[in-house]
Amino acid sequence: MLGSEIRKDYIQDKYVIIAPRRGVRPHEVAPTAPQKVVPPPCRFCPEKLDQEGYVLEVGGNKVWQIKVVPNKFPAVSLENPKAYGVQEVVVETPKHGTHLEELSDPHVAKLLSTYAARTDAIAKDKKIEYILIFKNAGGPAGASIQHAHSQIFATHFLPPHLFDKSQKVQAYKLRTGRCVYCDVIARERTGPRLVFEDAQVIAFTPYASMHNYEVWILPRRHLDNVTLLNDAERLSWAKILKRILKKIAALNLPYNFYFHQVIHDEDQHLYMKITPRGSIWAGVEIGSGLIINPVSPEDAAKYYRS
Ligand SMILES: [Zn+2]
Ligand SMILES: [Zn+2]
Repeated sequence: MLGSEIRKDYIQDKYVIIAPRRGVRPHEVAPTAPQKVVPPPCRFCPEKLDQEGYVLEVGGNKVWQIKVVPNKFPAVSLENPKAYGVQEVVVETPKHGTHLEELSDPHVAKLLSTYAARTDAIAKDKKIEYILIFKNAGGPAGASIQHAHSQIFATHFLPPHLFDKSQKVQAYKLRTGRCVYCDVIARERTGPRLVFEDAQVIAFTPYASMHNYEVWILPRRHLDNVTLLNDAERLSWAKILKRILKKIAALNLPYNFYFHQVIHDEDQHLYMKITPRGSIWAGVEIGSGLIINPVSPEDAAKYYRS
């Protein structure tokens, strides 16, 4: 196809074929599966949640703003040496049906400090090597019936692809004396994939985007984990995250966001990946591991900026 191009990730051995299909919107490629309707009060509504034990309660005079509870069906636990770890649910608002992007800027900034507080507490366990923070969100059609929440997954096991990535980042540093992502930020700031930036944070669509409309948010400072963000960075991050999620909502796409934190790896540069789920990976992807992305990151960036 005219304009197609194989691209490699900034540092990892991951490849994608950017194959723009003009005029094709991702939701036309893959309609969102209908979601189960859960009427309030759901498990995460205060009237139910407040009857359970909790890990952390944040803000509010009468009712909490954000609440962290243990995951009821964890795959890893501190009692299991064969699959050691912690799984928690972060309920982002007491209000059923309110989306993350509809919360106030300070509220979303508080969500980031909640992630930081839990990262700090969980990392005190010296056996924990890896903390993943992530969110799965349905499209607006389905999400109105969902109670906004994200999740924390921490374990003693570092997934091999992340170990491999850490080594590549270290090798780059040995070779150049610099952080690869700090270099990427410097490059993407002035290019066609820039989405938003201010003095604290930057968002861009990565050169080898695996997902259509994939976008990353990074602090401009080299910080290796979420506990090091300051107030100004959290507020900027909140504003930019909300703007991006509103644009994804307008596409009617479900999305994930996540960030990895490898404990004691100060060379890693914190970044949040936001990945809308627009296309279904089919034969080529499953067979070859090569991903085909029908929306070029340059077009995606243009959409986010518009
Ligand atoms: Zn609810
Ligand atoms: Zn860096």
